[in-house]
Amino acid sequence: MQTIKELLGATGSCEHLPPTVPAAQANACQECGSGFNIRLCATCGHVGCCDSQAGHARTHASETGHPVIYGTPKGGGFVWCYPDNRYL
Ligand SMILES: [Zn+2]
Ligand SMILES: [Zn+2]
Ligand SMILES: [Zn+2]
Repeated sequence: MQTIKELLGATGSCEHLPPTVPAAQANACQECGSGFNIRLCATCGHVGCCDSQAGHARTHASETGHPVIYGTPKGGGFVWCYPDNRYL
């Protein structure tokens, strides 16, 4: 498996980045079914929607403690660290 930095071309790094990226569990938000601006959990592959929708990616992160999400499509996204509150 690729690292997140390889996958998305992230320029930064932090202690929370997992070493490898799990496969996405779905191709739409697992809570509300939104397929628009979805966010993937870098720890478990959970798929959730962004904060301008129902914010299910953030809800997942706060409930599980999984720290890092990334946007899709792969390569066109971003990596966000919740504990650091910044893009990587
Ligand atoms: Zn971090
Ligand atoms: Zn949602
Ligand atoms: Zn997760």
